[in-house]
This record gives sequence, C-alpha cells and structure tokens, in this order.
Amino acid sequence: MLVSAFDLFRVGVGPSSSHTVAPMRAAAEVASRLASAAVARLDVAVYGSLALTARGHGTDRALVAGLAGHLPETVEPVVVRDARVVDGRVQLGDRPVAYALDLRARGGPPGHPNVLRFVATDAAGHRMLDTTFRSIGGGFITEDGVPVKGRAEPALPYATAAELVAYAERCGSVAAVAAANEQRWFPRTDVEARLLATAGAMDDCIERGLRAEGELAGGLRVRRRAGQLRQQLERQVAGSLAGMEWAGLWAMAVNEENAAGGRVVTAPTNGAAGVIPAALRYATTFEGLPASDAPRFLLVAAAIGALVKRNASISGAEVGCQGEVGSAAAMAAAGLAELLGGTPAQVANAAEIALEHHLGMTCDPIGGLVQVPCIERNAFGTVKAITAAKLALRGDGRHVVSLDQAIDAMRRTGADMHDNYKETARGGLAVSVPVC
Ligand code: SF4
Repeated sequence: MLVSAFDLFRVGVGPSSSHTVAPMRAAAEVASRLASAAVARLDVAVYGSLALTARGHGTDRALVAGLAGHLPETVEPVVVRDARVVDGRVQLGDRPVAYALDLRARGGPPGHPNVLRFVATDAAGHRMLDTTFRSIGGGFITEDGVPVKGRAEPALPYATAAELVAYAERCGSVAAVAAANEQRWFPRTDVEARLLATAGAMDDCIERGLRAEGELAGGLRVRRRAGQLRQQLERQVAGSLAGMEWAGLWAMAVNEENAAGGRVVTAPTNGAAGVIPAALRYATTFEGLPASDAPRFLLVAAAIGALVKRNASISGAEVGCQGEVGSAAAMAAAGLAELLGGTPAQVANAAEIALEHHLGMTCDPIGGLVQVPCIERNAFGTVKAITAAKLALRGDGRHVVSLDQAIDAMRRTGADMHDNYKETARGGLAVSVPVC
C-alpha cells in the first residue's frame, strides 16, 4: 500500500520518529481506547532496538506523554521533555494509574526490532487490554501487522518506479501522479494548502535551529553549531560551493533542533529530517525557484518515499541509516530534479543516484542519541541529493542501475546487515567512541 505525503511529512517532536513519535502515537491510541475503562494498572514492555535506545531517544517520556493523551503533531516539546512517572503512576487520560515500563533488549515478540506491548488490568487483576504495536519507521505504527490508520487505494497505484515513471509520462510529471493520488484521499485545495504549511513548518524548524545555541542534552557534550556556522557563512565571500555549504548548514540546523527534542517535520524520519527541508531551501535560494513550487517538490519526494517504504524500508532499525538518510536523499534529489525541469526518467534517475550512494550505510548512533553521526550525516545527505539531481539532469534518464534495483539492493543489504548496525547502538561508532 502506498502512503500519503501527509503520512511521510508529519509535524512531530524529536529526536526519533521510530522511538519517540511512534511510541507516543501508540500510547495515545491506548489511552483513547481506555478512556472510560476502570484501569488500575498499566504495564508497557518495549523490545529490541526500542529498548536499547529508549533513554537516549526519549521513548520513556514519549510513552508517558502519549498515555496522558498527547499526540506528536500537537504536543508542545516541553511537555514531552518534562513527562515523568511520579510515585509509580502515570496519567492515563485524566486519571492516575499504576505503571511499569519494562525495557527488554532481548527476547519478546519475534519478527520486528521495534515492538511495544501494552497490558492494562483492573483492580481485580483482570486483563482489560493486551495489545502489541510495531514501530515500522517514520512514526508509522501497526497493530498485529495492520496499519492503525489505513488509506483507500490510490487513484494511480504503482508498485515499482517503472510503473510510476510510466504513469508520469502519461500524466506529464511525477508531481501530477502524486497529486492525483493525494486528491483521492483529500480535497484538492486542502492538499495544496497543507503542503505549503508543511514546507512552512520545515522552514520554521531551520530558523529555530539557526538561532539556538548551547550543548545538546544526553552527556556527549555536542555543541550546537548551526548558529555559529551561519555567521561564518554570512561573512564569507560567495564561492561556487556556497550553495552546498548553506544546504549542509540548513540540514544540520534541523537535526540539531531534532536532537534537542524540538518540533520537526518527519521527512521521512526524524533522524533524517534535515535533508528535504535543506534541499527545498537550496532550490528557492540558489536555483531561483519560487516558494510556490514547494508543494510540487514535496509531492515528488513523497512519491519516491512511498515507493521506498513499500518495497524496502525507511526505518534505521530495519535496514540501517541507508533507509533513513539514504531515503531522504533520494526523495530530495527527485523533488529537486522535478523542479529543475527533469523528465520523469531523470527524476527517477536522480532518486536512484542518491540512494545508490548511501547503500550499506549503518545506523550506529553514539550513546544511542540522535546526534553523532546523525546531525552531520544529514548535511552529507543533502549534498549528495543536490549532486544526484544535477548529475541526473545532465543525462537522459538512462542509467546502469534502475531505481527499482537500487531499492531492492537496499532491502537486501538491510536484511544482511547485522543487528548491531540497526539502531541498537551496539556497533560502529557507538562502540568505537567510548561514552563517559
Ligand atoms: S545513524 Fe542514521 S538511522 Fe541511525 S539514528 Fe542517526 S540518522 Fe537515524
């Protein structure tokens, strides 16, 4: 099933879509189901990757905020930051209940690295609810393998990039195909307005990141650099690489904001949230494209993201960072190629080039935080996305590797990748760099 642009680009809070946003969404779903139930106790168990990075990714606080009824789209970041278990109790909606969180790195339900189980009991110890969610990347959740909120079949369903390109050649562009699908799900005027609002929220996040200072929480003592880098770039005489430097800086501004638990737009995940906003701002700032082109950019990016999600994964816990920053770079490259006048074949080619050069990239966040290497990694993802778009536009859309083959290669590489490199903080930089 293809997902909507509004599933892939959702306002949320940092630092992780899989480990912060999705658990909050699952907890809020449980809270709404138990709204009028006489619950005495709630036990939550999280497994695998979720358990291993739970503290660094704020999973524990996100669960408490979600159980109180907060949703990632509307919650103030400070509410999540301050969410606590008090005297062994949490707020379930508007009433306190006994609560325990069990972090289990090993064991638990098989079949997925990010599993959450909620068990609610009444005062007599009878089970009132026992349900299991999976966090499948980008803030998406499934319950017993079924999406919690599904969508109708799209107007122009495509299962491969080849099918998407074929539709686009008939409809005029990849953006036209994506728009037709969104209009199956939402009123036409809403689609345009919501995409513009999404682009605005991305831009606001860049600005907040550029203004912030200080150290990120978590113990790594990572300094926020975006503000200082901006001052340096503003003093610098423009050179031929200025666009690349600014684009990288904008991506870092977003990911510093994400790492600080601020408000970000998932694109397609929080860890990779900087690439698409930065590439979009690059398009308007350095390519002279109007801000009114943002909806087209986002539609095309979402069309590619939906394809990657359908045929591989956008989750670091499932396939490593190639699925997060790699997917974001492919999406951004496609959006940029479309705005710069690329044919459907060139747009697909841009996505392919960007994805190809992220294949094999592991997820190894130091300290289980979304800081190192994640923040700089978004800068590099953006630079690769721009390079991929430019390279594709100089060709004719033909390439030795097709986008479908690159997506398949990512899926296979992710399946072969050891769990230590899939958002568990047990391999790579996470073990080579000691955390005091
Ligand atoms: S290394 Fe990549 S996939 Fe892993 S947390 Fe960081 S941005 Fe996400």
